[in-house]
Amino acid sequence: MMAQYLRIKEDHRDAVLFFRLGDFYEMFHQDAIEVSRLLNLTLTQRAGNPMCGIPYHASRVYIARLLRAGKKIAICEQLTIPGPGKGIAERKVVEIITPGTAVEEEYLEQNVNNYLASFYVSPDGVCAYSYIDVTTGEFAGTVFSGPDSPERFRKELGRIQPREILVPQSLGDSYPILAEALADQSSMLINRYPEWSYNLQSAYKRLCGAFRTASLQSFGLTEASPLVASAALVIEYLNQTAGAALSHVSGITVYGETDFLSIDDSTRKNLELVQNLRDGSSSYTLYEVLNQTRTAMGARLLRAWIHHPLTDRSAIEERNSLVDYLYRSQRLLARLRDHLSTVLDIERLAARVSMERAHGKDLVALKQSLEAFLKIQQIFSSDAPASFRMEAAVADSILQLKELLSSSLKEDCSILLTEGNLIKDGWSPRLDELRALRDNSQAVLDAYVAEERDNTGIQNLKIRYNRLIGYYLEVSKGNLHAVPSHFIRRRSLSNGERFTTDRLVELETELNGVHANITELEQQLFLEIRARVGADLETLSYAAKRISRLDALQSFAHAATLYAWTKPAFSDSGVMDIRGGRHPVVELHLPSGSFVPNGITLDSAAESDAPSFALITGPNMAGKSTFLRQTALITLMAQLGSFVPAESVVLTPVDRIFCRVGASDNLARGESTFLVEMTETAHILRTATKSSLVIMDEVGRGTSTEDGLAIARSVTEYLLHSIGAKTLFATHYHELSHLQFPRLAHFCLDVLESEGTVVFLKKLRSGASANSYGIHVARLAGIPDQVLEAAKKYVKLRENDFPEASALSSVPDAAIEAKSKPISFGPSLFPEEELILNELLSISIESLTPLQALT
Ligand code: ADP
Repeated sequence: MMAQYLRIKEDHRDAVLFFRLGDFYEMFHQDAIEVSRLLNLTLTQRAGNPMCGIPYHASRVYIARLLRAGKKIAICEQLTIPGPGKGIAERKVVEIITPGTAVEEEYLEQNVNNYLASFYVSPDGVCAYSYIDVTTGEFAGTVFSGPDSPERFRKELGRIQPREILVPQSLGDSYPILAEALADQSSMLINRYPEWSYNLQSAYKRLCGAFRTASLQSFGLTEASPLVASAALVIEYLNQTAGAALSHVSGITVYGETDFLSIDDSTRKNLELVQNLRDGSSSYTLYEVLNQTRTAMGARLLRAWIHHPLTDRSAIEERNSLVDYLYRSQRLLARLRDHLSTVLDIERLAARVSMERAHGKDLVALKQSLEAFLKIQQIFSSDAPASFRMEAAVADSILQLKELLSSSLKEDCSILLTEGNLIKDGWSPRLDELRALRDNSQAVLDAYVAEERDNTGIQNLKIRYNRLIGYYLEVSKGNLHAVPSHFIRRRSLSNGERFTTDRLVELETELNGVHANITELEQQLFLEIRARVGADLETLSYAAKRISRLDALQSFAHAATLYAWTKPAFSDSGVMDIRGGRHPVVELHLPSGSFVPNGITLDSAAESDAPSFALITGPNMAGKSTFLRQTALITLMAQLGSFVPAESVVLTPVDRIFCRVGASDNLARGESTFLVEMTETAHILRTATKSSLVIMDEVGRGTSTEDGLAIARSVTEYLLHSIGAKTLFATHYHELSHLQFPRLAHFCLDVLESEGTVVFLKKLRSGASANSYGIHVARLAGIPDQVLEAAKKYVKLRENDFPEASALSSVPDAAIEAKSKPISFGPSLFPEEELILNELLSISIESLTPLQALT
């Protein structure tokens, strides 16, 4: 058997092999070691082979957990069971389940798309990235090239978070920086393909075949596009793995970077859009606050929107006005939310129909959802915005589908196709006939037993049924003398005997036959109905799209109601004017009313003389990070079409948002903190435009003070003079508060200081922070007075030494005198003897080892 195992395993080296042995799936060797660790199973040894097993009937739970851990699973079943001593069972891999291709409900997360991605780099260095969610049919792709490709690749991975990806085998050799982006994705399954799998010509044909089109022109793709190679491999992989029809995948959406507000991966992380920085879950994220959806489809769309904020002002305003309509009609909103909660996952149900995997309960769920959909459409009157109303023709198709399902399927439809109990009475005359026959059977049997009773004179003769011997006649002991010769004895009991007769056998066969005919016919009818539903996928996908959109829009309206948000206004001028802004997430986790609102006005228009750059100083804990992030979040929320947590907001849509935070959490990647910080800063300086919003929090921290300060300053000047992006720059280098430029404004977060204590008021005000208060914080933490005194002297020294004007020659304002002096610390304030004395005094002699004492 082990030889058989090894032979099969050889073909599935990249998968965990579930090897069926009786009632268990067993795993051996490396698979056993890994799986026992991942699933917390007991690892045993048999003849020196590590092994572990799971009962087959509970396997789905374990499979789901392995998929979440990014594992591929090959299910190997026993096809024949030999008799005792007749050698071993024949076994074969019957199914391969992977994280990105799974379609069963148990293997999926409801509110999250399940993406399979594919990445390819053409010989001339053009990157192509495509991704699909088989459970919904969404298929999209993009191409990019140039020095920012690794950053862009990271961004796409962060945005889509595929469960699984296909990449060329040689990616690591040819493009190590690109391959590095993959290393960050811990639970993503990576499949490597040899270069020859990316043949453009056959890929083009394969895609045309999959989309049932003659060319790919309508998708904007030519035979030369590397995206074709990437996307075709997705299709091929699905055919191999899922082995299912993909008729719901009817095309690919090709998108470009400029279609949406661009948010790179670290910004996405730092702003905690869908995952928090602490444990990677969705609590304390923007998504959590915005998500007031009532359907899984709506929740997935909302997530997708958060990853793709709009940039086009009219598109934003349109979405925003729909939210506003729902917000202003609270009664309608409440009814809409009620109805939405009865809509199930039409999108995934439709995909299952198309993949011929939908069972009875799925179709009933579909029917119920279509009913709810029709009700929802009725609540919008004729004066509702046009995009809430439905065209009559579509309504008609939906009604027809609903009618088909409700007149054919039983409400309590069974899940198995082989058990009957699927189809309603009255749907098929033939089925009704068979059922009547079945129901009649009792009457037929009753008639037969009455006949035999008359013949034999045995008054208590009865027909009974048991599973083992089927129908039989029971005769009690006292009547055995009257049993006629055509009774055939089956079994003797203490109080009587059981018999059958030729007629009874005949009736039984007939009855069994009727049962079999009924289930067979029901199955056939069910498949017909499913095929008819499958033929109108367009209508289903229309309904799914509408519902998810409505749900996401009402989610914005409901969140706005719950949290007292306001409708933003938009402009083209370059201005950003936020009054009384709040952090949507932090606010909710503070006692009600204790969040201090803050606003800011920046303008990037060339003709304006308002500041484009805000330099924010203030000690730690003053509220700088919160303010910076809230400004980015308010901008992003507005560009989603949502209301915003502020008194009033006027915004010019931005093209990119960057949010950099002085690195500290990247250490896990094994890179130098400062290198990471500089790589990210370089990316901003290369890609930010005048229309971007740049948020920099404590940049320059990871290196020595002199370097850090110098870099923070030159980055400031570059952003201010060469790019002109709206920028919020927080720093604890309060030396920077001396910088004076026309479009740079100083702000600080107010601090109240009295009798040695410091109260952070969290209120932003114009001007620079007078003091870094670091020393106060140090005192609060219990740092000895002697150290605090020395630190104060250092502060004085450095302030006197700080150069006041720009070191960059490109500064246009001639009024600013260029004078630059190195920043130095001067002589040490502590005499050496004192330091040695201090160290000696701090030694705890009692706990010293002899060796330590010696040293
Ligand atoms: P900094 O970045 O200056 O160190 P943070 O932004 O991290 O400060 O804020 C410090 C603490 O103050 C956080 O715990 C936050 O919850 C709270 N906080 C920040 N801003 C406000 C505000 N506007 N109103 C109330 N509490 C705030």
